[in-house]
Amino acid sequence: MTYNKKNIEDIDVAGKKVLVRCDFNVPLKDGVITSDKRIVEALPTIKYLLSKGAKVILCSHMGKPKGEVVAKYSLAPVAARLTELLGQTVELAADTIGADAKSKAAALKEGQALLLENTRFDKREEKNDPEFAKELASMAEIFVNDAFGAAHRAHASTAGVADYIPAVCGYLVEKEISVMGKALETPERPFVAILGGAKVADKLNVIDNLLTKVDTLIIGGGMAFTFAAAKGYGVGKSLLDDTKLDYCREMMEKAEKNGVQLLLPIDTTVADGFPNPIDAPIDVTVVDSDKIPADKEGLDIGNKTMELYANAVKAAKTVVWNGPMGVFENPTLAKGTIAVAEALAESEAITIVGGGDSAAACEQLGFADRITHISTGGGASLEFLEGLELPGIACLLDK
Ligand code: AMP
Repeated sequence: MTYNKKNIEDIDVAGKKVLVRCDFNVPLKDGVITSDKRIVEALPTIKYLLSKGAKVILCSHMGKPKGEVVAKYSLAPVAARLTELLGQTVELAADTIGADAKSKAAALKEGQALLLENTRFDKREEKNDPEFAKELASMAEIFVNDAFGAAHRAHASTAGVADYIPAVCGYLVEKEISVMGKALETPERPFVAILGGAKVADKLNVIDNLLTKVDTLIIGGGMAFTFAAAKGYGVGKSLLDDTKLDYCREMMEKAEKNGVQLLLPIDTTVADGFPNPIDAPIDVTVVDSDKIPADKEGLDIGNKTMELYANAVKAAKTVVWNGPMGVFENPTLAKGTIAVAEALAESEAITIVGGGDSAAACEQLGFADRITHISTGGGASLEFLEGLELPGIACLLDK
């Protein structure tokens, strides 16, 4: 897959009907949007298209209605919020590819926008059914994918429609692929990747792929203990996947063979057990990572490790981070994750944070504007780091 894809500025949209796949899967509570971040982030693409005189047909999924029409997953609140933010009416079609959607789409004038109802109200969406994709595409002349968070799914509205009409990316997807794609293809070096999170099993392919790309791979979080155990260290009651010990040994060998520096925690913050509830006050001590007592559980990296990792970030020209360094939901155990977030924020390097917990941590800590790029898609950015082809990107026209 190449990352050099045409975007909305590379195609003539004036007077054309343009189908835009957005990620309007916003959090709702009792029908009220609790964060409109995803809608706000979609505005530059929508405004550009409207300003060029396109007839804009927006679509998105919301929640998991599993192919049924479920009222609580209607995009009505999104249409209302879009109307406010754009300062012009964005009507909601009563269906996705039905008579109402088609007549409203056909009636659009230049510079007007319409929102189709939840694409997942039809079970053919997630099956990437060609008939459904064809019907959806038949309403427009150009397809714009701006939903990076859904780009790893081969669904009708994320990829299938591109079989019928020319497809380009919007500004959000463009930024994802230009920053992350460049980092993975032609990074400025030293290139440092930091991986954390609970389980090594979730990141097997990411580790494997990154070991062919980076200069330094840093491991933290629960997954570090399987590596520690693979080195022969006792890990006490820490999270351990003993089915992955051979895998970790293999990865350590691969790192050595590829000349990649693999950094593991040198000290660990331990407690008697996992906090319950997760944010309960907890007594901790810090021990060397090869001396975790049998009755203790490792729940965060220690101070020496924080410094080691921060120094590696300081020396880097490109940094990619995905996954917390500890049980960051607990303030006492969030220090390692905060230290890494801070190191990225202070770095002059190109800094990229994969979606999910690490992205949330940067935002909560107020570091977001000092990070080069925070990915909008957790699952999609992991698949990107795995080196997989994302269907929602592969289907776009090359430059
Ligand atoms: P992931 O979804 O794989 O990114 O993992 C995130 C989760 O990993 C968070 O909920 C953390 O609490 C958890 N986590 C991080 N470090 C540890 C650890 N040392 N022990 C147990 N869980 C951890």
